[in-house]
Amino acid sequence: MTSPPVTRLAPSPTGALHLGNARTFLVNWLLARQAGWRIVLRIEDLDGPRVKVGADRLLIEDLRWLGMDWDAGPTYQSERNDAYRAATERLIAQGDAYPCICTRKEIETAASAPHAEDGAAVYPGTCRGRFESAADARIAAGREPAIRFRVPTTPISFVDAFAGPRTYANPEKELGDFVIHKNDGLAAYQLAVVVDDAVAGVTEIVRGDDLIDSTPRQILLYTALGMADCIPRYTHLPLVVGPDGRRLAKRHGDTRLATYRAAGVPVALVLQLLATWCGIANIGTPGTAADLVGRFDLARLPHIPIVATDKVI
Ligand SMILES: [Zn+2]
Repeated sequence: MTSPPVTRLAPSPTGALHLGNARTFLVNWLLARQAGWRIVLRIEDLDGPRVKVGADRLLIEDLRWLGMDWDAGPTYQSERNDAYRAATERLIAQGDAYPCICTRKEIETAASAPHAEDGAAVYPGTCRGRFESAADARIAAGREPAIRFRVPTTPISFVDAFAGPRTYANPEKELGDFVIHKNDGLAAYQLAVVVDDAVAGVTEIVRGDDLIDSTPRQILLYTALGMADCIPRYTHLPLVVGPDGRRLAKRHGDTRLATYRAAGVPVALVLQLLATWCGIANIGTPGTAADLVGRFDLARLPHIPIVATDKVI
Protein backbone atom coordinates (compact mmCIF):
# COMPACT_ATOMS: atom_id res chain seq x y z
CA MET A 1 0.00 0.00 0.00
CA THR A 2 1.38 3.39 -0.90
CA SER A 3 0.76 6.31 1.43
CA PRO A 4 -1.35 9.23 0.19
CA PRO A 5 0.28 12.51 -0.88
CA VAL A 6 0.75 15.02 1.92
CA THR A 7 0.48 18.80 1.83
CA ARG A 8 0.73 21.46 4.50
CA LEU A 9 -0.99 24.68 5.41
CA ALA A 10 1.77 26.83 6.87
CA PRO A 11 0.62 30.24 8.09
CA SER A 12 2.98 32.66 9.87
CA PRO A 13 1.61 34.21 13.05
CA THR A 14 3.21 37.54 12.17
CA GLY A 15 -0.17 39.00 11.27
CA ALA A 16 -3.79 38.14 10.67
CA LEU A 17 -5.15 36.10 7.80
CA HIS A 18 -6.39 38.51 5.13
CA LEU A 19 -8.20 37.87 1.87
CA GLY A 20 -4.97 37.46 -0.11
CA ASN A 21 -3.37 34.73 1.94
CA ALA A 22 -6.77 33.16 2.70
CA ARG A 23 -7.20 32.61 -1.02
CA THR A 24 -3.81 30.85 -1.31
CA PHE A 25 -4.69 28.58 1.62
CA LEU A 26 -8.10 27.90 0.11
CA VAL A 27 -6.61 26.78 -3.23
CA ASN A 28 -4.20 24.53 -1.32
CA TRP A 29 -7.05 23.07 0.72
CA LEU A 30 -9.32 22.56 -2.31
CA LEU A 31 -6.58 20.75 -4.24
CA ALA A 32 -5.95 18.54 -1.21
CA ARG A 33 -9.58 17.66 -0.58
CA GLN A 34 -10.18 16.98 -4.29
CA ALA A 35 -7.22 14.66 -4.63
CA GLY A 36 -7.25 13.01 -1.21
CA TRP A 37 -4.02 14.51 0.07
CA ARG A 38 -3.40 14.49 3.81
CA ILE A 39 -3.17 18.01 5.27
CA VAL A 40 -0.73 19.00 8.02
CA LEU A 41 -1.12 22.38 9.75
CA ARG A 42 2.19 24.00 10.63
CA ILE A 43 2.63 27.35 12.35
CA GLU A 44 5.75 29.09 11.00
CA ASP A 45 6.65 31.10 14.08
CA LEU A 46 10.41 31.39 13.66
CA ASP A 47 10.50 35.07 12.77
CA GLY A 48 11.11 36.03 16.42
CA PRO A 49 10.41 39.75 16.69
CA ARG A 50 7.59 39.74 14.14
CA VAL A 51 5.60 36.90 15.73
CA LYS A 52 2.52 38.24 17.52
CA VAL A 53 1.27 36.56 20.68
CA GLY A 54 -2.09 34.89 20.06
CA ALA A 55 -1.94 35.33 16.28
CA ASP A 56 -1.66 31.55 15.82
CA ARG A 57 -4.98 31.03 17.60
CA LEU A 58 -6.68 33.69 15.46
CA LEU A 59 -5.30 32.18 12.22
CA ILE A 60 -6.67 28.78 13.20
CA GLU A 61 -10.08 30.31 13.98
CA ASP A 62 -10.07 32.09 10.61
CA LEU A 63 -9.28 28.89 8.69
CA ARG A 64 -12.00 27.03 10.60
CA TRP A 65 -14.49 29.85 9.97
CA LEU A 66 -14.04 29.29 6.23
CA GLY A 67 -14.64 25.58 6.79
CA MET A 68 -11.10 24.35 6.26
CA ASP A 69 -9.83 21.40 8.28
CA TRP A 70 -6.64 19.36 8.50
CA ASP A 71 -5.54 15.86 9.42
CA ALA A 72 -2.58 16.62 11.71
CA GLY A 73 -1.11 19.50 13.68
CA PRO A 74 -0.73 22.27 14.45
CA THR A 75 3.00 21.85 14.87
CA TYR A 76 5.16 24.85 15.78
CA GLN A 77 8.52 25.60 14.20
CA SER A 78 9.68 27.35 17.38
CA GLU A 79 9.75 23.93 19.08
CA ARG A 80 11.98 22.33 16.46
CA ASN A 81 15.25 24.20 16.62
CA ASP A 82 17.23 21.09 17.66
CA ALA A 83 16.29 19.39 14.39
CA TYR A 84 17.24 22.50 12.39
CA ARG A 85 20.54 22.80 14.27
CA ALA A 86 21.39 19.15 13.53
CA ALA A 87 20.78 19.72 9.80
CA THR A 88 22.97 22.84 9.83
CA GLU A 89 25.78 21.00 11.67
CA ARG A 90 25.63 18.25 9.08
CA LEU A 91 25.87 20.76 6.21
CA ILE A 92 28.86 22.47 7.87
CA ALA A 93 30.59 19.11 8.41
CA GLN A 94 30.05 18.25 4.74
CA GLY A 95 31.50 21.57 3.60
CA ASP A 96 28.13 22.67 2.22
CA ALA A 97 27.74 25.54 4.71
CA TYR A 98 30.03 28.05 6.39
CA PRO A 99 29.95 30.86 8.97
CA CYS A 100 29.45 34.44 7.77
CA ILE A 101 30.00 37.60 9.81
CA CYS A 102 28.99 40.17 7.17
CA THR A 103 26.44 42.77 8.17
CA ARG A 104 23.47 43.51 5.93
CA LYS A 105 24.99 46.87 5.11
CA GLU A 106 28.30 45.30 4.04
CA ILE A 107 26.47 42.95 1.68
CA GLU A 108 24.35 45.73 0.20
CA THR A 109 27.33 47.96 -0.42
CA ALA A 110 29.59 45.21 -1.80
CA ALA A 111 30.47 46.76 -5.14
CA SER A 112 30.20 43.54 -7.12
CA ALA A 113 26.87 42.41 -5.67
CA PRO A 114 24.25 41.99 -8.36
CA HIS A 115 20.62 42.05 -7.32
CA ALA A 116 18.20 39.18 -7.37
CA GLU A 117 14.75 39.60 -8.90
CA ASP A 118 13.18 40.13 -5.49
CA GLY A 119 15.40 43.18 -4.97
CA ALA A 120 17.55 41.66 -2.24
CA ALA A 121 21.30 41.88 -2.70
CA VAL A 122 22.91 38.62 -3.78
CA TYR A 123 25.53 37.64 -1.25
CA PRO A 124 28.94 37.90 -2.98
CA GLY A 125 30.54 35.01 -1.08
CA THR A 126 32.83 37.16 1.08
CA CYS A 127 33.14 34.59 3.89
CA ARG A 128 33.57 31.49 1.72
CA GLY A 129 36.69 29.76 3.01
CA ARG A 130 37.39 32.65 5.39
CA PHE A 131 37.10 30.78 8.71
CA GLU A 132 38.17 27.35 9.87
CA SER A 133 35.10 27.01 12.09
CA ALA A 134 32.10 28.84 13.52
CA ALA A 135 34.19 29.35 16.67
CA ASP A 136 36.88 31.18 14.67
CA ALA A 137 34.23 33.38 13.07
CA ARG A 138 32.77 34.14 16.50
CA ILE A 139 36.17 35.25 17.80
CA ALA A 140 36.84 37.39 14.71
CA ALA A 141 33.49 39.16 14.89
CA GLY A 142 32.95 39.22 18.63
CA ARG A 143 29.43 37.91 18.06
CA GLU A 144 27.58 34.90 16.75
CA PRO A 145 28.02 34.30 12.97
CA ALA A 146 25.21 33.45 10.59
CA ILE A 147 25.55 30.20 8.64
CA ARG A 148 25.26 30.26 4.85
CA PHE A 149 24.68 27.46 2.38
CA ARG A 150 27.30 27.20 -0.35
CA VAL A 151 25.37 27.32 -3.62
CA PRO A 152 26.95 25.22 -6.40
CA THR A 153 27.48 26.41 -9.97
CA THR A 154 25.44 23.58 -11.54
CA PRO A 155 22.12 24.68 -13.06
CA ILE A 156 18.88 23.79 -11.23
CA SER A 157 15.63 22.99 -13.02
CA PHE A 158 12.19 22.01 -11.83
CA VAL A 159 8.72 21.85 -13.30
CA ASP A 160 6.12 23.82 -11.37
CA ALA A 161 2.67 22.24 -11.55
CA PHE A 162 1.11 25.63 -12.33
CA ALA A 163 3.87 28.05 -13.36
CA GLY A 164 5.60 25.55 -15.67
CA PRO A 165 9.29 24.73 -16.12
CA ARG A 166 11.92 26.88 -14.42
CA THR A 167 15.66 26.90 -14.84
CA TYR A 168 18.28 28.70 -12.82
CA ALA A 169 21.26 28.51 -15.16
CA ASN A 170 23.74 30.10 -12.79
CA PRO A 171 22.41 29.65 -9.24
CA GLU A 172 25.59 30.87 -7.61
CA LYS A 173 25.08 34.29 -9.21
CA GLU A 174 21.26 34.30 -9.34
CA LEU A 175 20.61 33.13 -5.79
CA GLY A 176 23.89 33.63 -3.94
CA ASP A 177 24.91 31.71 -0.81
CA PHE A 178 21.84 32.04 1.41
CA VAL A 179 21.44 32.03 5.19
CA ILE A 180 20.26 28.77 6.78
CA HIS A 181 20.87 29.75 10.40
CA LYS A 182 20.64 33.37 11.50
CA ASN A 183 23.06 34.96 13.93
CA ASP A 184 20.33 35.00 16.59
CA GLY A 185 20.59 31.21 16.70
CA LEU A 186 17.29 30.56 14.93
CA ALA A 187 16.97 28.58 11.72
CA ALA A 188 16.17 30.58 8.60
CA TYR A 189 13.00 29.93 6.60
CA GLN A 190 14.62 27.88 3.79
CA LEU A 191 16.19 25.32 6.10
CA ALA A 192 13.27 25.04 8.52
CA VAL A 193 10.67 24.30 5.84
CA VAL A 194 12.84 21.63 4.20
CA VAL A 195 13.53 19.85 7.51
CA ASP A 196 9.85 20.04 8.51
CA ASP A 197 8.45 19.07 5.13
CA ALA A 198 10.77 16.06 4.98
CA VAL A 199 9.82 14.88 8.49
CA ALA A 200 6.11 15.28 7.74
CA GLY A 201 6.48 13.45 4.42
CA VAL A 202 5.16 16.46 2.48
CA THR A 203 4.88 15.70 -1.23
CA GLU A 204 2.79 18.69 -2.42
CA ILE A 205 3.64 22.33 -1.79
CA VAL A 206 1.13 24.99 -2.85
CA ARG A 207 2.03 28.61 -2.16
CA GLY A 208 2.19 32.14 -3.57
CA ASP A 209 4.55 32.77 -6.47
CA ASP A 210 6.44 35.33 -4.38
CA LEU A 211 8.17 32.22 -3.01
CA ILE A 212 9.12 30.69 -6.35
CA ASP A 213 12.78 31.71 -5.95
CA SER A 214 12.83 29.80 -2.66
CA THR A 215 12.25 26.58 -4.56
CA PRO A 216 15.73 26.13 -6.09
CA ARG A 217 17.23 26.89 -2.67
CA GLN A 218 15.04 24.27 -1.04
CA ILE A 219 15.85 21.73 -3.77
CA LEU A 220 19.56 22.32 -3.05
CA LEU A 221 18.97 21.68 0.66
CA TYR A 222 17.04 18.45 0.04
CA THR A 223 19.88 17.25 -2.17
CA ALA A 224 22.67 18.23 0.23
CA LEU A 225 20.83 16.56 3.13
CA GLY A 226 20.62 13.29 1.21
CA MET A 227 16.87 13.61 0.61
CA ALA A 228 16.73 14.24 -3.13
CA ASP A 229 14.05 11.55 -3.44
CA CYS A 230 11.83 13.57 -1.06
CA ILE A 231 11.72 16.74 -3.19
CA PRO A 232 8.00 17.63 -3.36
CA ARG A 233 5.93 18.80 -6.30
CA TYR A 234 5.55 22.59 -6.32
CA THR A 235 2.49 24.61 -7.30
CA HIS A 236 3.06 28.38 -7.23
CA LEU A 237 0.00 30.62 -7.56
CA PRO A 238 -0.21 34.22 -8.74
CA LEU A 239 -0.90 36.53 -5.80
CA VAL A 240 -3.84 38.78 -5.08
CA VAL A 241 -2.76 42.40 -5.61
CA GLY A 242 -4.33 45.76 -4.84
CA PRO A 243 -5.46 48.27 -7.51
CA ASP A 244 -1.88 49.61 -7.53
CA GLY A 245 -0.52 46.22 -8.59
CA ARG A 246 1.25 45.62 -5.30
CA ARG A 247 0.64 42.56 -3.14
CA LEU A 248 -2.58 42.88 -1.12
CA ALA A 249 -1.64 44.28 2.28
CA LYS A 250 -2.65 46.69 5.01
CA ARG A 251 -2.13 49.71 2.73
CA HIS A 252 -5.13 48.52 0.67
CA GLY A 253 -7.49 48.66 3.63
CA ASP A 254 -8.52 46.17 6.24
CA THR A 255 -9.26 42.81 4.58
CA ARG A 256 -8.56 40.70 7.66
CA LEU A 257 -10.94 37.81 8.13
CA ALA A 258 -11.07 38.50 11.86
CA THR A 259 -12.44 41.98 11.10
CA TYR A 260 -15.18 40.57 8.86
CA ARG A 261 -16.06 38.00 11.51
CA ALA A 262 -16.22 40.62 14.23
CA ALA A 263 -18.41 42.86 12.02
CA GLY A 264 -20.86 40.01 11.45
CA VAL A 265 -20.12 39.66 7.71
CA PRO A 266 -21.57 36.29 6.64
CA VAL A 267 -18.95 33.70 5.74
CA ALA A 268 -20.88 33.07 2.49
CA LEU A 269 -19.96 36.55 1.28
CA VAL A 270 -16.27 36.04 1.97
CA LEU A 271 -16.33 32.57 0.39
CA GLN A 272 -18.12 33.92 -2.69
CA LEU A 273 -15.34 36.42 -3.28
CA LEU A 274 -12.58 33.88 -2.60
CA ALA A 275 -14.33 31.43 -4.95
CA THR A 276 -14.25 34.03 -7.74
CA TRP A 277 -10.53 34.49 -7.06
CA CYS A 278 -10.16 30.70 -7.35
CA GLY A 279 -11.69 30.79 -10.84
CA ILE A 280 -15.12 29.52 -9.74
CA ALA A 281 -18.01 31.48 -11.24
CA ASN A 282 -21.65 31.63 -10.08
CA ILE A 283 -21.20 29.67 -6.90
CA GLY A 284 -24.34 31.09 -5.23
CA THR A 285 -24.00 31.29 -1.47
CA PRO A 286 -21.52 28.67 -0.29
CA GLY A 287 -21.96 27.84 3.38
CA THR A 288 -18.52 26.39 3.80
CA ALA A 289 -15.30 25.71 1.88
CA ALA A 290 -16.47 22.12 1.31
CA ASP A 291 -19.18 23.47 -1.05
CA LEU A 292 -16.41 24.58 -3.42
CA VAL A 293 -14.51 21.30 -3.65
CA GLY A 294 -16.51 19.89 -6.57
CA ARG A 295 -16.36 23.15 -8.52
CA PHE A 296 -12.67 24.00 -8.30
CA ASP A 297 -10.43 23.47 -11.34
CA LEU A 298 -6.78 24.54 -11.14
CA ALA A 299 -6.71 24.81 -14.95
CA ARG A 300 -9.21 27.70 -14.72
CA LEU A 301 -7.05 29.73 -12.41
CA PRO A 302 -5.69 32.79 -14.24
CA HIS A 303 -1.93 32.93 -14.73
CA ILE A 304 -1.86 36.62 -13.89
CA PRO A 305 -2.33 38.27 -10.49
CA ILE A 306 -5.88 38.72 -9.22
CA VAL A 307 -6.65 42.41 -8.75
CA ALA A 308 -8.74 43.21 -5.70
CA THR A 309 -10.89 46.28 -6.23
CA ASP A 310 -10.93 49.23 -3.84
CA LYS A 311 -13.79 48.03 -1.71
CA VAL A 312 -13.80 44.26 -1.92
CA ILE A 313 -16.44 43.44 0.70
ZN1 LIG B 1 30.02 37.02 5.05
